[in-house]
Amino acid sequence: MRIVLLGPPGAGKGTQAERVAARLEVPHISTGDIFRQAVSQGMPLGLKAKEYMDKGLLVPDEIVIAIVEERLRQNDASTGFVLDGYPRTVGQAIALDLALGKMGIGIDAVVNLDVPDDIIIERLTGRRVCRSCGSNYHVRFDPPREEGTCDKCGGALYQRDDDKEETVRRRLEVYKEQTEPLIEYYREKGTLVSVDGTGGMQEVFEDILRLVGRR
Ligand code: AMP
Repeated sequence: MRIVLLGPPGAGKGTQAERVAARLEVPHISTGDIFRQAVSQGMPLGLKAKEYMDKGLLVPDEIVIAIVEERLRQNDASTGFVLDGYPRTVGQAIALDLALGKMGIGIDAVVNLDVPDDIIIERLTGRRVCRSCGSNYHVRFDPPREEGTCDKCGGALYQRDDDKEETVRRRLEVYKEQTEPLIEYYREKGTLVSVDGTGGMQEVFEDILRLVGRR
């Protein structure tokens, strides 16, 4: 199956995409993760992307589109994928349709995770990530046993630069301006399903599977 997860930053796309991909046995492709990895490896792509990420802005379409197209051509994506954080602009959505069309395939379902702004701000500004293994925590909802230390690997926890409150607000504005129009884009194509993203992790996961399974 080929699935796109859509939703504002902090809607839980990453967590859900990872679980859905594992269940469907397809790769989880996150453009945010690709950029963060490039940043941590000091690659030129990372340096370029970081300029935008730290400001809460989107990396320009031509950079993202090329990266995703290359990733989709890899063997493991031939039976399906869960795209997380891509597309984020109408330009990217059109490019994705064209690229998949050339391969003779299409998207089976676009899952829109619906979460109101106040919940997003609370979720993102409280998020902490492990520097070593990438596990996520939340200072209130899912704190580690020992403050600042990962339960799983003992690594140091940090706050992503783009999770600082001012940047979160900017990311939300960018989402509304550039990404929200995709809801209509996919509704018109008949691939959109909407899920209430405010429930617990398991509840949201089951809702996604149920709706995707119907398609
Ligand atoms: P995420 O982890 O999905 O929230 O992505 C983190 C940051 O990476 C975003 O705020 C953007 O700066 C950049 N990014 C990720 N995916 C895209 C995309 N599809 N288009 C443009 N920028 C992106």
